[in-house]
Amino acid sequence: MSTTAPLVIVGTGLAGYNLAKEFRKLDAERPLMLISADDGRFYSKPLLSTGFAKGKQADELAMQDAASMAGQLQAEILTQTRVERIDPQQRRLWLAGHELEYSDLVLACGASPRQLPWARDLGERLLSINDLQDYARFRQALEGRKRVLIIGAGLIGCEFANDLVLAGFEVSVLASDPYLMPGLIPEPVAEPIQASLEALGVRFYLNQNIAQMLLSSSGLQVRLENGQVLEADQGLSAIGLQANTRLAAEAGLAVNRGIVVDRQLRSSDPHVFALGDCAEVSGLNLMYVMPLMAGARTLAQVLAGQTAQLSYGPMPVTVKTPACPLVVAPPVTASAGAWTFSGEGPDRRALFHAPDGLLHGYALTAGALPERLQLNRQLPPWL
Ligand code: FAD
Repeated sequence: MSTTAPLVIVGTGLAGYNLAKEFRKLDAERPLMLISADDGRFYSKPLLSTGFAKGKQADELAMQDAASMAGQLQAEILTQTRVERIDPQQRRLWLAGHELEYSDLVLACGASPRQLPWARDLGERLLSINDLQDYARFRQALEGRKRVLIIGAGLIGCEFANDLVLAGFEVSVLASDPYLMPGLIPEPVAEPIQASLEALGVRFYLNQNIAQMLLSSSGLQVRLENGQVLEADQGLSAIGLQANTRLAAEAGLAVNRGIVVDRQLRSSDPHVFALGDCAEVSGLNLMYVMPLMAGARTLAQVLAGQTAQLSYGPMPVTVKTPACPLVVAPPVTASAGAWTFSGEGPDRRALFHAPDGLLHGYALTAGALPERLQLNRQLPPWL
């Protein structure tokens, strides 16, 4: 490896760019390169699921282009460039047509939407939204169309349901789950969210499995296993994300749900690190902004030669369903315990206690939201 080989970050999402910013606060000299499969614009991904109601074009959500980020970070940024292979032994990576040396490598390559088996045949009529370019493509696909069918009732599906119905679309949500966001909240908390979205006109088809999806003259036709047929002009697939672990796995690095890293964000190779949606830190693959911001600060210190170790406080998630706002601190720190419920109407409170009586999680809706500050003080740190 040459002495001038750069620190290379793969990915220009919130993880890649926030790491680069934190690193430059500590080291203004070391050569830095970012490589991105997309156009490298800096944007806040959470704004994608509130953009339709605000009438925002993708260009309006972009905060800076790659050239201006490169100037600000004193970095070289390669855009529309996919890293195809890495070799940790030689500290080399391969891009289309050429190879590069790195001194240290950070994989901040995010996660990809899971695909329904019919997705390939449905083309533009069934899309998912996981970056700015997806958002632009979906907006374009919606032109002249009214009825949107969202597949998936997780956090992302619910946020888009709320946003699209506020933007004037006829929205239906179809899911095999029995209630909304089952991976995140217990059923009594999901009830007022569903009721509030229904009051805005969203239709739910829960507990339903898809038998077949086809293109139709109007757009999309979905046959359910119970024989029912749903028609829509446009489909939005929101059935979950999967960490992008392929590069790491093919290089022989330890991979589980995400790329396995320790509390210095270091993988099973001493010069390869991982951060953000693609990383699994001490067993936690958390696909949210707060964990990656904490990770970016720690990793910047490690890469600058300082002693640092990642710790997480409690990190509640605010779900952007303004019809019935939700804040949830999932009980990631408890291996056993139970939920208790109180409240009525839209204002629900669920508390998760471990067998020893200590609070490990909560979910609050609407009028109960102000209690989160006091509950946060009782939660144990996540890491
Ligand atoms: P990404 O933003 O996915 O970036 C990955 C980068 O890697 C991209 O630049 C991509 O081009 C690049 N890349 C991938 N593979 C390669 C390769 N082989 N070669 C080169 N480049 C590659 N979290 C919250 O905490 N609060 C919220 O309200 C919230 N809302 C959300 C709303 C939506 C609609 C979505 C989709 C997510 C939301 N999240 C929210 C999650 C949060 O946005 C993500 O956790 C975070 O943005 C992930 O950032 P990342 O940099 O790890 O990944």
